[in-house]
Amino acid sequence: MPEKITDKQVRSPISGRLAPFRRVVVKVGSSLLVDQQTGLRRDWLGALAQDLAALGDNGADVLVVSSGAIALGRSVLRLPRGKLKLEESQAAAAVGQIALSRAWSEALGDTGRVAGQILLTLGDTEERRRYLNARATIANLLRLRAVPVVNENDTVATSEIRYGDNDRLAARVATMVSADLVLLLSDVDGLYTAPPASDPGARFIAEVQTITPEIEAMASGAGSELSRGGMQTKVEAAKIATGAGATLVIASGHETGPIHRIDAGARSTWFAPVASPVAARKAWIAGTLEPRGAVFVDAGACNALRAGKSLLPAGVKRIEGRFERGDTVAIRSEDATLLGVGLTAYDDADARLIAGRRSAEIEALLGYAGRSEMIHRDDMALGASPVADSEG
Ligand code: GLU
Repeated sequence: MPEKITDKQVRSPISGRLAPFRRVVVKVGSSLLVDQQTGLRRDWLGALAQDLAALGDNGADVLVVSSGAIALGRSVLRLPRGKLKLEESQAAAAVGQIALSRAWSEALGDTGRVAGQILLTLGDTEERRRYLNARATIANLLRLRAVPVVNENDTVATSEIRYGDNDRLAARVATMVSADLVLLLSDVDGLYTAPPASDPGARFIAEVQTITPEIEAMASGAGSELSRGGMQTKVEAAKIATGAGATLVIASGHETGPIHRIDAGARSTWFAPVASPVAARKAWIAGTLEPRGAVFVDAGACNALRAGKSLLPAGVKRIEGRFERGDTVAIRSEDATLLGVGLTAYDDADARLIAGRRSAEIEALLGYAGRSEMIHRDDMALGASPVADSEG
């Protein structure tokens, strides 16, 4: 048994390349967690949990996207090698996910952390209402200092409605929570100009500033038997993550303690972000959506918004239009001057009920404890002129 280290004094700190990052999504590939002969690699996982705890000691929020449910389940169920049918992989995932969650819970528990399991399907990240729910749960786990351990819900995912690979899922989770770093740990140490196994002339690429068609062409589609993602899904993940303002790193996780190794400069490919996560999110809110309605705010709220605060129900004078939670609405002053746009945390009916009221009254007014902000400051782009600004 490896010695348990729960005291951060004896855990070596993160002080190198990874030290600046504040919110980190770590994707762990199946081939790292599961040995096809011997099953779960517990010692390796224990060391990785220490790595993650060290990121946490350094002040970062940590999220895990863990593969391995299907690989573990197939070894428990003794399914034959080779490609599984969809219904076999669903059954394997059902068996494997229990073992996987338990392993994470124990490994993180040994470092004094609590794990929270999140199983997502494609719709949970792509449909706005469900996206907001998943995002709120993950945000609450982080607030409570728990480590979200995310996987695709492979037991119900069918081929038409699944990610199928956790590389892109990790990138989507990162955009959901405005993470500034995604670490893709798998059995490859980075991007090469050609597949290194078959081409002796292949050169390693340490840094990618822009994902050009040449970079995309370098990523060939091969994955291993255990994991679905090849280099192609990793470069696709890099596009999603960097476009949302996160740095993405592809690195090998094979050796013990891979995160400390990357921190110390181990070989890895770094994809540079195009903007900061919050700036990227605000640009998306400002640029791509049409407002469904409007909230009119009083002078005090105008000043608070300009000072970078969230919009509280107390500052809202009236509501116009029909909208759902998560829709984009215009934010206007009482004289209808457009101040910006934002994603509302309430639909129009509930927003009307709580307009002008204190946040502490929300539960009594609506019968549920909603968010204290009507529009969170991270969900708001001030000075933005919505595409369909017809009213004023
Ligand atoms: N969600 C799959 C599992 O847990 C893994 C997908 C992947 O390999 O990227 O087995």
